Amino acid sequence: MVELKTDTSIDAMHAAGQVVARALTAVRRAADVGVSLLELDAVAREVLREAGAGSPFLGYRPSFAPAPFPAVICASVNDAIVHGIPDGYRLRDGDLVSVDCGATLDGWAGDSAVSFTVGTPRPADTALIAAAGRALDAGIGAAVVGNRIGDIAHAIGAVCRAAGYGIPDGFGGHGIGRRMHEDPGVPNEGRAGRGMRLRHGMVLAIEPMVTGGGRDDYHAAPDGWTLRTNDGSRAAHAEHTVAITDRGPRVLTARDGL
Ligand code: MG
Ligand code: MG
Repeated sequence: MVELKTDTSIDAMHAAGQVVARALTAVRRAADVGVSLLELDAVAREVLREAGAGSPFLGYRPSFAPAPFPAVICASVNDAIVHGIPDGYRLRDGDLVSVDCGATLDGWAGDSAVSFTVGTPRPADTALIAAAGRALDAGIGAAVVGNRIGDIAHAIGAVCRAAGYGIPDGFGGHGIGRRMHEDPGVPNEGRAGRGMRLRHGMVLAIEPMVTGGGRDDYHAAPDGWTLRTNDGSRAAHAEHTVAITDRGPRVLTARDGL
């Protein structure tokens, strides 16, 4: 069932989304060669703590997971697509990092992700990250009243495929509200004009993931969480929480710069 949010609830979700935005900005500022993933998690924890926000990631345990998630961010480096567990790994020159973060504030959730490089970027990584961003923009652009879920999926998939990148099978965006994961699912590829009609008050986390090798397959690392490309190619991820309104899409996790 899809819950439609009131304008007041969307404002409250914007407040939660802005905590996520600040956390991601702080993490990105802190990320550099030699900085560990655990240190980045600590940066995000501090932003959530200062805001009085909770983490929907910390302790999260979906059916596939062998253990509760131990951090407030996912930090996925290079061939890791999503769900990387922050650990003592120290970032190296040219690493591609995808950071996903959530927050709950006054009972409402926000969810957003960004990819970036540290040190001297590989041109191929810069292009991959740019494509994830363009795919996200295209998905947001299709998130308008009267369109359907398939229009968002098609818009995302068209950008990724045109660039020659892969789209990991079976992962995508989702409805979001009082819980981080609600109906409907928002696939990263699909047919325009199909699926649920978009209405004022729907709030969706839209989150393209792209793989540089052009393949859609992946595997779980031994930790049971981290998903890595099978061909070792690098991956990028971009996500915003977006409210569908009569006045157009409203990006609740928008960041200032960075
Ligand atoms: Mg996320
Ligand atoms: Mg999400």
